[in-house]
Amino acid sequence: MSNTRPGGPGLPQVRRLATAVPGPASDAWAARKDAAVPRGVGTTLPAYVSAAGGGVLTDVDGNSLIDFGSGIAVTTVGNSAPRVVEAVREQLELFTHTCFMVTPYDGYVQVAEALNALTPGEHDKRTALFNTGAEAVENAVKIARAHTRRQAVVAFEHGYHGRTNLTMALTAKSMPYKSGFGPFAPEVYRAPLSYPFRDGGLDGATAAAHAIDVIEKQVGAENLAALVIEPIQGEGGFIVPAPGFLPALAEWSRAHGVVFVADEVQSGFARTGRMFACEHEGVVPDLIVTAKGIAGGLPLAAVTGRAEIMDAPHVGGLGGTYGGNPLACAAALAVIETIEEERLLDRALEIGKTMTERLTSLKERDGRVGEVRGRGAMIAVELVREGSLEPDAQLAKNVAAAAHAQGLVVLTCGTYGNVLRFLPPLSIPDALLHEGLDILDAVFAKLR
Ligand SMILES: *Cc1c(COP(=O)(O)O)cnc(C)c1O
Repeated sequence: MSNTRPGGPGLPQVRRLATAVPGPASDAWAARKDAAVPRGVGTTLPAYVSAAGGGVLTDVDGNSLIDFGSGIAVTTVGNSAPRVVEAVREQLELFTHTCFMVTPYDGYVQVAEALNALTPGEHDKRTALFNTGAEAVENAVKIARAHTRRQAVVAFEHGYHGRTNLTMALTAKSMPYKSGFGPFAPEVYRAPLSYPFRDGGLDGATAAAHAIDVIEKQVGAENLAALVIEPIQGEGGFIVPAPGFLPALAEWSRAHGVVFVADEVQSGFARTGRMFACEHEGVVPDLIVTAKGIAGGLPLAAVTGRAEIMDAPHVGGLGGTYGGNPLACAAALAVIETIEEERLLDRALEIGKTMTERLTSLKERDGRVGEVRGRGAMIAVELVREGSLEPDAQLAKNVAAAAHAQGLVVLTCGTYGNVLRFLPPLSIPDALLHEGLDILDAVFAKLR
């Protein structure tokens, strides 16, 4: 199948520049977009895609681009992945929607069972399905409030949790996510994060003690429903907290009846070489939020967690028209099968090793690369002015633009906009991975 359809891994796995990137056909679409779509919906690289799979995206000008973005960590198993296509097609011909809250279907229950089995911890679990990461984070907060009968929620510096009203409040960065969109939801507080590159390398226990001090003094454990944290931050800059930080916060939460919520929307689903990033430190969250990589590009999100917490909201208190859509559920089951059958956890570690080695060698040659960090196929470089910690957002922008022009899709992130992040699909062939890293080497050399 993969060799006869236009997209998926059967696409020629090559970088090919037929025109400038973006080319004239994309530019024509961009002009139509400007007239039809508000400017608030921005685009990173306005090359209009015609097909995708393996490690490439092809565009309407006949260019073939190397994908180091996976649509922001979504197409982890590959774009238009064979098992996903087959499962969705089969479901598409049976039924497309009934609303699980009206007349249910087995796919939803199967996804819930799979997530209950795959997420950390041997305790009794339940899973509820939603459409987007932000919607799932909101529901995790609703569930934690219903369970604890407390209202306050703590999020962390540099955190990103979405763009809905409650999740804007949880998100740290004003521009572009929040600026002008307030007032934000009340009872949201922010605690300091462990950020080894910028906090003088505080050890995890000390950084956690600082966060706990802020929480106890400014919020009070007795008022706190949930602590919401990304085990590895995504938009905030792929910040990996110092070892011990997450376990200490999880332990403190347990001791004070606070629901520990891991937002694994970006870091979850095989991205880091484990099914969930919190597994790297043996952390067992009370609730875990998943989305992005869960369904190969179909909109699906989930909250999975301790049965007694998940069952706190009353009957009818959770749901949504499309939550756990049958097509998305079929896709999720196919994604899980693909991760297992294609041993993608190992593949994520391999990709991570290659990227880390090559980027570390770049850092040794180029003092503007302040740090290489991340886990598995979730790797970033933080750029600074040489010999300092001063963030260099302009360089990140320039490197990304030059990479785009060479047919390499890379994304930036970080509170200071000075982080380049690399999230290739796990289906990327080694040759393309190396070619993408070669392009980065050349771009850094050229932008001296
Ligand atoms: C992307 C993201 C979200 C929001 O997910 P949407 O599907 O865009 O609503 C929430 N948390 C994290 C960590 C994310 O990376």
